[in-house]
Amino acid sequence: MKLINDSAELVDSIRNTSFMEYEEFLESELLSAGISDCSCYKCKEPRPPLTYINRSFFTQPCWDCIGEQNKREIKSTILQVQDAIRDYYFETILGDHYLQLFIVDDIYFRNTLPHDFVVFKRIISSLEPPDRNDIWFLDWIPGYPKLINLDNIAGMRLVNLSNLYKIENKDEEGEIKVGDFTISLPIQMSGENKHYSRYSILNLSNDGSRARRIKISKDKCYKLYNTENDNVKSILSLTKNGEKVAIGDLTYQDYVIIKLAIMRNKKFLRTIFEIVLEICKSVKELKDSVFLKNSVRLTPTPSVNASLCLIWNPLSPYKESNNINLSIF
Ligand SMILES: [Zn+2]
Repeated sequence: MKLINDSAELVDSIRNTSFMEYEEFLESELLSAGISDCSCYKCKEPRPPLTYINRSFFTQPCWDCIGEQNKREIKSTILQVQDAIRDYYFETILGDHYLQLFIVDDIYFRNTLPHDFVVFKRIISSLEPPDRNDIWFLDWIPGYPKLINLDNIAGMRLVNLSNLYKIENKDEEGEIKVGDFTISLPIQMSGENKHYSRYSILNLSNDGSRARRIKISKDKCYKLYNTENDNVKSILSLTKNGEKVAIGDLTYQDYVIIKLAIMRNKKFLRTIFEIVLEICKSVKELKDSVFLKNSVRLTPTPSVNASLCLIWNPLSPYKESNNINLSIF
């Protein structure tokens, strides 16, 4: 483990690995003392959680202590980490509407005191959420502090968006309609054609059509979308009346509702997870600022260099040059 002496570097490091501000990180460390009490049995250093949203779920291995010679240990640890990410995506996020809301916008994590999903869930439950099929979010009544805790329960309300936006899930067409917006799945094509090089997305090239495809299985290959940022490919496309949407022009409310509509669609989430997990097999690190809100090292192998940065949109500050930047839309 590398010791950081410079405070600015420390703040940056926390922001880039756990996607939290220094103060939030400190709060969550202090409040969860004991929960994450998991240390490497060799070096005794504390091990980071897979996700700060649920610290007790899985702790990341201490790669530095896993013997470089022990091929079998390396291999089984790599699989363990991948399985833990898969479980978190498919078992934890997919079915939990409260968790989907908690991670859809930073404000929920930041304003819940303590920064704990269990507290958030208890509060939302007591506000009597609308029907499972409705889309709703949490808002504050003017005059109350923007805090999510039991003492402020009178200051919060759930807003049912189904009354404000027409949201249609057209799974057959691979589309979600949110008002005038259309969110589309990546184009799926047969994986047979050998021109669709398995990892062509990893070549980071912008030129031509070869750089945007990823093969999931023998007969399933996705074509990803180009975005307004040359360094970023997107999994989904967002259009309005047939025109590609410039992300910077979206209102904050539209932006959050589009994100929530995606979170609430199992087919869309499964496709996103499938693509992310496939790329995880061939990168060094997953920097997931969307679902895990954490960075996870995936392999100790020094020959693997690139990281996968998963971000909501191509303008996100968490993208990095020389890495694979994949945005949701
Ligand atoms: Zn260790």
